[in-house]
Amino acid sequence: MQRKKMRDGRTNCPNCGAPIERYKCKCEYCGTWYFDFAGFDMSEDVPYYVRFRSPYGIITTLARPELRAIETSYDTMYAESSLGIELIPFVISKQCDLEVIFHAQENPEDRTLYKLEVDKDNAEI
Ligand SMILES: [Zn+2]
Repeated sequence: MQRKKMRDGRTNCPNCGAPIERYKCKCEYCGTWYFDFAGFDMSEDVPYYVRFRSPYGIITTLARPELRAIETSYDTMYAESSLGIELIPFVISKQCDLEVIFHAQENPEDRTLYKLEVDKDNAEI
């Protein structure tokens, strides 16, 4: 399914096509989880504040994203003749690995690498 960006900044769910809010991580209609990295311009050396959940709580850090690799691989099998001779290869599965890393850097304003926010789900940590 081709994704379209709508006039108000929303996009369509890659699974069901329902309109979704760009910065939410879960489709309200089908429950599919997704990450939209369209806001990261990997060609520019610009730091972003990145926020994510960890076992220690919610961490907010200033970081520069880097796209390290896009690697596509295929598993193939051969169709065989009745005599066991390999005839034609065909793809049985495809995989694409995206390696994106975020280099944390010091915040020039308060000289910290990250901020740690503990939410109620991880309050004991
Ligand atoms: Zn959906």
